Amino acid sequence: MSNYAEFHRRSIEDREGFWGEQARLIDWHQPYDQVCDYSNPPFAKWFAGGLTNLCHNAVDRHLKDRADQNALIFVSTETDTEKTYSFRELHAEVQRMAAILKSLGVAKGDRVLIYMPMIAEACFAMLACVRIGAIHSVVFGGFASHSLASRIDDATPKVVISADAGMRGGKVVPYKHLLDDAIGLAAHQPAAVLMVDRGLSAWPRTEGRDVDYATLRTRELDTVVPCEWVESTHPSYILYTSGTTGKPKGVQRDTAGYTVALAASMKHIYMGKPGETYFSTSDIGWVVGHSYIIYGPLINGMATIMYEGLPTRPDAGIWWSLVEKYKVSVMFSAPTAVRVLKKQDPAFLTKYDLSTLKALFLAGEPLDEPTAKWIAEALGRPIIDNYWQTETGWPIMAICNGVEPAPTKFGSPGQAVYGYDVKLIDETTAEEITEPNRKGVIAVDGPLPPGCLQTIWGDDERFVKTYWSSIHGKTMYSTFDWGIRDEQGYYFILGRTDDVINVAGHRLGTREIEESISSHPNVAEVAVVGVADPLKGQVAVAFAVLKDPSQVATEADARKHEAEIMKVVDEQLGAVARPARVRFVSVLPKTRSGKVLRRAIQAVCEGRETGDLTTMEDPAALTQIKDLITG
Ligand code: AMP
Repeated sequence: MSNYAEFHRRSIEDREGFWGEQARLIDWHQPYDQVCDYSNPPFAKWFAGGLTNLCHNAVDRHLKDRADQNALIFVSTETDTEKTYSFRELHAEVQRMAAILKSLGVAKGDRVLIYMPMIAEACFAMLACVRIGAIHSVVFGGFASHSLASRIDDATPKVVISADAGMRGGKVVPYKHLLDDAIGLAAHQPAAVLMVDRGLSAWPRTEGRDVDYATLRTRELDTVVPCEWVESTHPSYILYTSGTTGKPKGVQRDTAGYTVALAASMKHIYMGKPGETYFSTSDIGWVVGHSYIIYGPLINGMATIMYEGLPTRPDAGIWWSLVEKYKVSVMFSAPTAVRVLKKQDPAFLTKYDLSTLKALFLAGEPLDEPTAKWIAEALGRPIIDNYWQTETGWPIMAICNGVEPAPTKFGSPGQAVYGYDVKLIDETTAEEITEPNRKGVIAVDGPLPPGCLQTIWGDDERFVKTYWSSIHGKTMYSTFDWGIRDEQGYYFILGRTDDVINVAGHRLGTREIEESISSHPNVAEVAVVGVADPLKGQVAVAFAVLKDPSQVATEADARKHEAEIMKVVDEQLGAVARPARVRFVSVLPKTRSGKVLRRAIQAVCEGRETGDLTTMEDPAALTQIKDLITG
């Protein structure tokens, strides 16, 4: 048995011993009584009885050895700003932010919603929350008012932290009116809105509610705010993700399990060392941003780069120039970003000294072979695909080079990561597939390892029903991804089993988009499917049935209507969710029982076989779509 196979075996068969060792990677205020309390499956309580603090582990504990080393490197090619914060400076800024939150009445267990662009204050805000035991919920800045309102109502934050605007491609993207609209739509009203004013966009102030960060900060310059020692199981944050219904799910993360899991992953998977620099190109609104822009690198005593801007501005060399300048040792990005770079001059990749870079990790969506090959050759560095989900918070599959170096295989995110008892399940029999190269649903036998979701915020029942009840007769976590495993235990991901799509590494629920489109007064019915796209992996395409089809009598009318519907989605959900096309049909393909045949529509759009359609009500409905696509 290889060292890694033994390492993995032990992580499952001797959970107490294995995770007890990993737990030594972090600081504890009070030791735990039990490594894993799984007396109430599928709810796992990791390190029950312990007391710790995420901010202490990310910031305070490094003051002893590396107070003057870089902790946060903020780079914006949008505003031409570059500013570094040492651990000492970060510690001071986080305390100021924590003091402001406390002055606004935020206490342990209260929620704080963070709707911010990629600026240093967003990092201070996240760390300040966990410092005082408040639970943050970061909402991606690309989401618009309806998405934001549903999250405000679900998380019921005492305070919202925002900024006047973000910037993208040289254009100012104002935030405040979207936030005001969202609060207007929401039933829950936050007591205060803390505004970071970047001087990019004027914003209307609601007296008695909106407060200015810069003003309050000057009052708290020297305030000391100690870390609140929280129980291991105390929630650190809620991060919303899309599912198969229109209602987003609040993935709830604990404190100790998450801190241990991230610390261990830095050692065994990402192999970053304290004092080095980590550069993840994601956004704090996504799970990668939480785990590998903010918490993972800082817990590991590394500097982390927070980058606001495009990968191609001022030119396609910008990321690599940062690697050279800050001696980045570990980099993390998504396949879509690489596909964007692939369209640029490859000379940009060799223009800079990348000798400090140990590996480039890619995740979030399937990594196709041509993209993997191109970047591996262009960079001359190992490219490591890793597979995980918002729910898990850290990789389910990867190559754990920190344990034992192993080769990568094109198209595979590697082997099951330690801690995950991954099973492939036959869809029809619900039996485990043990032989190689047979397709099944990727599942994980409980308990999930530390760091994974504890539950869905405020909805234990939905947690059990959604994730643990889909594999008949077994309490097993479903990833809702198809996969196969080869003879060497390498997995290959074959797409989602549900109606979740993945656009440029961003997960979107087709139902959410359908609900938004349906709110257009002329839309009677709509189906949204994910269609393969060479750049973004997948794009959303909508097929709508109109109440008054005469409005799209000509091609020009149809285009006008399409733009109008896209605007509805932009305003409600945000441009990230905007379908690439909205096509108009007279009827949707459905089964006789009335279920829309999304998979058949998708197959037609991708020019594939539709499979068995004997249950279809009206075959002409698909022909219509086929004609539209090919016409
Ligand atoms: P999210 O929760 O937004 O990170 O999306 C998670 C989903 O993205 C997974 O369930 C997969 O469908 C997909 N995904 C993430 N990483 C990979 C990968 N390395 N290869 C293939 N699909 C991936």
